[in-house]
Amino acid sequence: MPDVVIAGAGPVGAVVAALLQRSGVDVAVYERRDAISSRPRAVGTHPPAVAVLRDLGLELPGARVISRGEARDGDSILGSLEFDPPVLTQPQHLLQAELDAHLRHVRRGTPVLSVDDGARSARVHLPGGSVGAQLVIAADGVDSSIRAALGIRRQRWPGHARYLMADIDDGHVDTAAALGDAALLWFARGGVVESFPLPGSRRRWVARTAKGTSLSRIVAERTGVRLGSDADQVTTTFTAQQHLARRWVSGRVILLGDAAHEVSPIGGQGMNLGILDAAALAPRIVDALNGDADALPGWERARRRSAQRAMAQAAFNMAVGTSAPRPLHPIKRGGIRALAHRPIAPHLSRAFTMTTL
Ligand SMILES: Cc1cc2nc3c(=O)[nH]c(=O)nc-3n(C[C@H](O)[C@H](O)[C@H](O)COP(=O)(O)OP(=O)(O)OC[C@H]3O[C@@H](n4cnc5c(N)ncnc54)[C@H](O)[C@@H]3O)c2cc1C
Repeated sequence: MPDVVIAGAGPVGAVVAALLQRSGVDVAVYERRDAISSRPRAVGTHPPAVAVLRDLGLELPGARVISRGEARDGDSILGSLEFDPPVLTQPQHLLQAELDAHLRHVRRGTPVLSVDDGARSARVHLPGGSVGAQLVIAADGVDSSIRAALGIRRQRWPGHARYLMADIDDGHVDTAAALGDAALLWFARGGVVESFPLPGSRRRWVARTAKGTSLSRIVAERTGVRLGSDADQVTTTFTAQQHLARRWVSGRVILLGDAAHEVSPIGGQGMNLGILDAAALAPRIVDALNGDADALPGWERARRRSAQRAMAQAAFNMAVGTSAPRPLHPIKRGGIRALAHRPIAPHLSRAFTMTTL
C-alpha cells in the first residue's frame, strides 16, 4: 500500500509527487489523461516557483527570461517595473513534460473514480480495482470530482469579464516600434491588452473584450500593433472566474492546486500558487505520516492566506484592466503612472513576481 495516492498529474500534482518521492515517501500518481494536454494555459513561472522547480533539478532550458514590464497607453510609456529575479515564460505543457520526466509511478489513462475515507486508511477506486493509502491528494483540477464527492462547498466569484488570447509569432506582427523583451501592458480607454514574450520569438496576446469582436481588431485599435491574418484562427477565450474551497483538508483527503482554489489567469498566478502550496505541503505530509495531527491544518491555514492574497491581487489586476469612461481615463493613466514609480514600484514588482506569496 503506498503512503500517498495523488489524483491528477497536472503541474501541481506532479510537483508534490516529485517532492514526496525525493523525501522517500511511497507515492502512486493516477492521471486520467493518456497524454499531457497542449491547451494554452499558464506561461509565466515566477521566481519562488522557479526556485522550487530548480531545487527538484528542473533546468527549464527552453524558458524565456523576462526582467522588465512596461505599462503603455498607445505610444506613451506610463511606467516600467524591473523583475529581479526575473519571471520565466514557457507554455505550461512543456513545463509539465519536463516534470513528467522526473516522476516515477505515474499511471496515465487511469482516472480516480472515487475515494472512501476510513478511520485507519483511505481507499481509492480505479477502473478494475482499488488501492489503499494513508493520505490522498486531490490535485484533480478546478472541476475536482473528489472535492464534489466530499461535499466541500466553494466560495465562488463567477466572473463576467471575457478575454481573448492567442500565442503569435513576432514575425507575423506588424508594428512600427520594436516589441523587445519586456512584458507589455497597454491601458487603453477601451480596456487592457497584455503581451508577454514567449520562447522562440513569440508573444502571448490577451485582451479584455465584449462579445462579437476579434483579437486582431482590438489589439490594432488599442495598441496600433497588427497581429497578422492568422491571429483570429488561433484565438481562444476565457472568463476570469475565481473560487476558494471552504476546506482543503477533509479526513485523509487533501485538496491541492486548482481543486482548492482557482485564481483568475489575469496576473498569472494559479499554477504558481499551486506549486508553492505543493512545496509547503510535502514536508507537512511527512510530519502527518509521522503522527503530527496539526501538520495538515497548519499548512491549510498558512496557504489559505496566500491564496486569498493572490486572488485579491488578481481582482485588482482585472479592475485596473476594465474600460474607463472618457472623462476618467486621464485619472486612471495618472494612477498607473504613480503605481509604476518609487516608492510603490518595488512593492508592485514583488507582488507581480509573487515573492510575497
Ligand atoms: C488561459 C489560462 C491562462 C493561465 N495562465 C496562467 C499563468 O500565466 N500563470 C499561472 O500561474 N497560472 C495560469 N493559469 C492557471 C493554471 O493553468 C492552473 O492554475 C494550473 O493548471 C493548475 O494546476 P493543477 O495541477 O492544480 O490542475 P490541472 O492543471 O487542471 O491538472 C489537473 C489534472 O488532474 C487530472 N484529473 C482530473 N480528474 C481526475 C481524476 N478523477 N483522476 C485522475 N486524474 C484526474 C486532469 O486530467 C489534469 O491533468 C492559466 C489558466 C488559464 C485557463
